[in-house]
Amino acid sequence: TKEQGQPSIMIYDVNLLKNQIHRLKLEEGLLQALSNDELELHFQPQFNIHSGKVRGFEALVRWQHPKLGAVSPGEFIPIAEENGTILPIGLWVLRRACELYQEMLMVPFPEAVISVNISALQLNDSYFPKHVSQILSETGLPPHLLELEITESMLIASIDAANIRLKELTQLGVRIALDDFGTGYSSLHYLNRLPLHLVKLDKSFIRDICKNNEGRITESIIRLVQDLDIQAVAEGVESYDQLYLLKTWKCDIVQGFLLSKPLREQEIAAFITKQTSV
Ligand code: C2E
Ligand code: CA
Ligand code: CA
Ligand code: CA
Repeated sequence: TKEQGQPSIMIYDVNLLKNQIHRLKLEEGLLQALSNDELELHFQPQFNIHSGKVRGFEALVRWQHPKLGAVSPGEFIPIAEENGTILPIGLWVLRRACELYQEMLMVPFPEAVISVNISALQLNDSYFPKHVSQILSETGLPPHLLELEITESMLIASIDAANIRLKELTQLGVRIALDDFGTGYSSLHYLNRLPLHLVKLDKSFIRDICKNNEGRITESIIRLVQDLDIQAVAEGVESYDQLYLLKTWKCDIVQGFLLSKPLREQEIAAFITKQTSV
C-alpha cells in the first residue's frame, strides 16, 4: 500500500542525495585542489624481471581533501575527466613526474623511466604534444625516459584521431604504453595499429595465473605482444609464485605490491640507494 511504500522511497532518496552531495563536494574540491597544494604524486617502482633492477617508476596521483581526507584516484579521476579539471591536473602530474628526474640525477640514477597516466581528454587536446615537449625541455628529462600510459577505452571514439596524436608524441621521442590491457573489448585489434612500446597486462590477468590453466592465456598474451616487438609489463604482482611464473614466461617488466608499494617522493632516494648498492 501507499503508506508502506513511502518510507523505503524516502530512504532511497536520502542515499541518493548523500551520494550527490559527496560528489558535489569532490567536484567543488577539485577546482581548488591544485591551488591549495592538496595533490601529491607517489611513485611505484617497476623492475626488469631478468636483471631484477629498477627500470622506472609509475607516477600515481593522490588527493588529500581538507575535510574528506584521502580520496582515491579511482574515485576522483573520473569526476575530473567529466568536469575538465583533468586537463590542469594532468599537466601538473606530468610536470611533477618529469621533475623527479633531477632528483634521480642527484642519487645518481639517471636511466630510470618515468611513466605517467594520460586521460582521454588530454590525448584529445591538440596542444598536448606541445605541452609535453615544453615540459621535457624545462625539466631536462630525456624524451626516451618518459612513458605515457593510455588505455584502450580512450581510443574507441576515434582510433585514427588517437593515432595521429600518438604519432606526434612518439616523434618527440617519448614512449607509449597501452595500460589495463585485456579489460576492453577489442584489445588485439589495437596492437599493430598503434605506435606502442609497451603493453601492461591488467591485474586481472595476473591474479590467477598460478591456478591450473588460468595462466595459459597470460603466457600467450606475453608471447603475442613480444612477437610484435612490444615489451610486456605485468602489473599487480603480489606473490613469489606469480613472479616465478612470469620469469619462466620471459615477461619483460614487473610491478606490484610484492616488489614495492607506490613510494612517497621523500622515500625514493633511499629506495634507489638501497637497490643499486645490492
Ligand atoms: P592504474 O594506472 O592501473 O594504476 C595501478 C593501480 O594499481 C594503482 O592504484 C596502484 O597503486 C595499484 N597497484 C599497484 N600494485 C598493486 C598490486 O600488487 N595489487 C593491487 N591490487 N593493486 C596494485 P591507484 O594509485 O589507486 O590508481 C588507480 C587508477 O587511477 C590508476 O590505475 C589510473 O587509472 C588512475 N590514475 C592514477 N594516477 C593518475 C594520474 O595521474 N592521471 C590519470 N589520468 N589517472 C591516474
Ligand atoms: Ca597506469
Ligand atoms: Ca593498469
Ligand atoms: Ca586504469
